[in-house]
Amino acid sequence: MPRYEYRCRPCGATFELNRPMAESSAPAVCPEGHEDTVKLLSTVAVGGSAAAPAPPRGGGGGGCCGGGCCG
Ligand SMILES: [Zn+2]
Repeated sequence: MPRYEYRCRPCGATFELNRPMAESSAPAVCPEGHEDTVKLLSTVAVGGSAAAPAPPRGGGGGGCCGGGCCG
């Protein structure tokens, strides 16, 4: 069963609930009893900031004969 994280506006607490996906958007009540809560994004994140390895820089870029190493 997926786990969802919620944050309570009145008290600022975050809490997690295990509930079926069908109820993921149902109102969640804070452990303190507050009903004004918002659902946070799941930790199963859709990342967009994965660091790609940078290509090596320098070296002339024209191949061997561009830098005088073969002539
Ligand atoms: Zn609360």
